[in-house]
Amino acid sequence: MKRVLVTGGAGYIGSHACKLLRQAGYEPITYDNLSTGWRAAVKFGPFEQGELEDRARLDEVFAKYQPVAVMHFAALSLVGEAMAKPGLYWRNNVAGSLTLIEACVAAGCRNVVFSSTCATYGEHDNVVLNEDTPQEPLNAYGASKRAIEDILRDFGAAHDLQSVIFRYFNVAGADPEAEVGEAHEPETHLIPVVLQAIDGQRDKLTIHGTDYETPDGTCIRDYVHVCDLVEAHILGLKHLEAGKGSAVFNLGTGEGFSVREVMEAARVVTNRDVPYVEGPRRAGDATKLVSGSEKAVRDLGWSTERSSMRQMIEDAWRWHRTGGYESHSD
Ligand code: UDP
Repeated sequence: MKRVLVTGGAGYIGSHACKLLRQAGYEPITYDNLSTGWRAAVKFGPFEQGELEDRARLDEVFAKYQPVAVMHFAALSLVGEAMAKPGLYWRNNVAGSLTLIEACVAAGCRNVVFSSTCATYGEHDNVVLNEDTPQEPLNAYGASKRAIEDILRDFGAAHDLQSVIFRYFNVAGADPEAEVGEAHEPETHLIPVVLQAIDGQRDKLTIHGTDYETPDGTCIRDYVHVCDLVEAHILGLKHLEAGKGSAVFNLGTGEGFSVREVMEAARVVTNRDVPYVEGPRRAGDATKLVSGSEKAVRDLGWSTERSSMRQMIEDAWRWHRTGGYESHSD
């Protein structure tokens, strides 16, 4: 069985990718330091604990498994934290990824699928963001991901490394079978925070800013179902295995939802009110991030079947009610 090294395989998106890799006939090898991931989320292949910056450990893991590709999810990914602690983001995300990419090349593995972000684009008034939109990140999270994209391009030119770079918009939902799901501590992402507020696990949701230049004053984001998102990764992997070369794709639906629209959708799905308070803007947030996603549809044959707001919230709610990994722990 072909093996794929999945960094961050114990995290939210990485764990869903491992499940789909397994179903697609690959063995996913999770490489994760468990700083934010969950041992209980590693269910679909072997687990190797390690740091991205630990070159000797990476060399050992590449030699042991000889993967055909790396899917690189491991990263810090919170805008607020990145604003407060940029050094952490440059060290962990950029220096860590550089070490990983060097180890990958040294091991003769030539295929990387990389998780980048729409946060690399920054603020662009009223335009749909496509892959050619200039990348002008507003925060160290976006800047760190842009830098890793540059590293992959330079290594592509010098070392024959092929990469598929996916710029994610807002990832939401969970495995419909609830084997894996979203579990951050502390949780800061909108949909799980809304569900926690509905369920009484937190007092209320704080809306981060109601004075944006949008129809209802709250930020607009493009939400994509995690299962659709990881499906694109399998298509990206096959694209690389077929020798079709490096490429960049946005992953979103092209449809934007405001914070208030997400709250309303959650009220309808759960039939419960969302306790909330209106707060100030969160530093580093762009007003509107909506994807132009035609390229992934056209070139990879991607589709976003599960990404209706209703479906994403239904799946997230089902996962939420399982109690997450605490109640799954062995
Ligand atoms: N948001 C909010 N309250 C929260 C969490 C998020 O108002 O408790 C808003 C946030 O300002 C942004 C949107 O919801 O406009 C999505 O934020 P999230 O943190 O989920 O993802 P991001 O866009 O930062 O990747």
